[in-house]
Amino acid sequence: RYYLNRIAQLKHLNAFLEVFEEEALEKARELDERIKNGQPVGALAGVVVGIKDVICYKGHNINAASHILEGFTSLFSATAVERLLAADAIIIGNLNCDEFAMGSTNENSAFGPTLNALDNSRVPGGSSGGSAVAVQADLCQVSLGSDTGGSVRQPADFCGIVGLKPTYGRISRYGLIAYASSFDQIGIFGKDIADVAAVLQVMAGPDEFDSTASQKEVPDYQKHLTDNKSFKFAYLRDAQYHDGLDAEMKDRYIDFFEELQTLGHTVSGSSFEYLDYVVPAYYVLTTAEASSNLSRYDGVKFGHRTNEQNLDLTEFYKKNRSEGFGKEVKRRILLGTFVLSAGYYDAYYTKAQQVRRLVTDKLNDILEQYDAILMPTVPSTAFKIGEKMDDPIAMYLADIYTVLANLAGVPAISVPLYRHSNGMPYGVQIITKKFNEASLLQIANQLM
Ligand code: GLN
Repeated sequence: RYYLNRIAQLKHLNAFLEVFEEEALEKARELDERIKNGQPVGALAGVVVGIKDVICYKGHNINAASHILEGFTSLFSATAVERLLAADAIIIGNLNCDEFAMGSTNENSAFGPTLNALDNSRVPGGSSGGSAVAVQADLCQVSLGSDTGGSVRQPADFCGIVGLKPTYGRISRYGLIAYASSFDQIGIFGKDIADVAAVLQVMAGPDEFDSTASQKEVPDYQKHLTDNKSFKFAYLRDAQYHDGLDAEMKDRYIDFFEELQTLGHTVSGSSFEYLDYVVPAYYVLTTAEASSNLSRYDGVKFGHRTNEQNLDLTEFYKKNRSEGFGKEVKRRILLGTFVLSAGYYDAYYTKAQQVRRLVTDKLNDILEQYDAILMPTVPSTAFKIGEKMDDPIAMYLADIYTVLANLAGVPAISVPLYRHSNGMPYGVQIITKKFNEASLLQIANQLM
């Protein structure tokens, strides 16, 4: 009831697309009853969770914040959702986001933007903006998002909360609406590391419905969470001294690295000469995958269908898709189709795959030598609403620090640390080796 009241009070933030009020109360009552009768309850009993509008929950609306999926109801639940429910979490509603998780501000939602609760003239980030604001504004305790190129870490940073993107394959993607399948990963928002660790614990692990979900055993993420240790950190010189990084933030990070050394950690600079190639490689590869993944929305099997009559089949497809998809999604389908087309495939797609390989090898090399890499999550604090909408290239370039972890498939977390003189929060991003979430969470807990 506490969260339901807050959701009602803060409706103007436009974080929730739908609230499952009756169902959530029913589950809460059932749990109360079980606890009263001394019956066992799950690991997340009573934890109130919101889910991004790209994660399926059987019998509930799912739109990917797109007109093309208007009126569509999930036919099954995502594995991640099944596991939350089995652990007795309470799912309170689904959350606004950029259409098909494409965007950095939530302004691409067909249902209007979500507002940053700290400053309503600013964006919450994206694409999981609703998920970030829901936790920021205390509309639920934790929430799920998806992170293909930063969509959990970046909005977490803009909203001053914690955002985790696990290793690619740590959490099953079954029931997650695909944007770019070789990058997509479900991620978790929370106010502290302990909450995020507890939710990861429940959702991680193999799944017979997703062959890319890893068979690796899931360690106990909570066991060493509060241990204090000395770490060997690296920062990427090319990232820390990048022209695009806000000057005030740049200075703060340099002080931060010195403070870490006085606390007994080592912090060394490492070169990473590929930084300027990560955004282009990311946008070539993800739009290529998106153009293929989104071809299923044709208005025949499911999805929006035009009212116009007497069209031939091709015109019918075109009309359905033209009416159903928003501008950014169309831009990406076109770009992705272009980079995959016969004459350009090698020049763009194959080249970008090669860049992905180089970037991954280099990053893994560094991660072999250090416990973790520290870097900014975003080069600036939250944008003003509308600020970047007319300049997609500028918008894409702001993803420079987050797409790296998705290209390489490694886990990364954004933790809130500071306030900028403009009043907005920002923090640091921590990256470790694949499947090393246990130490990632421990480091994050120690630095926060
Ligand atoms: N901002 C990035 C993009 O627009 C990230 C999206 C995501 O992680 N889903 O592609």
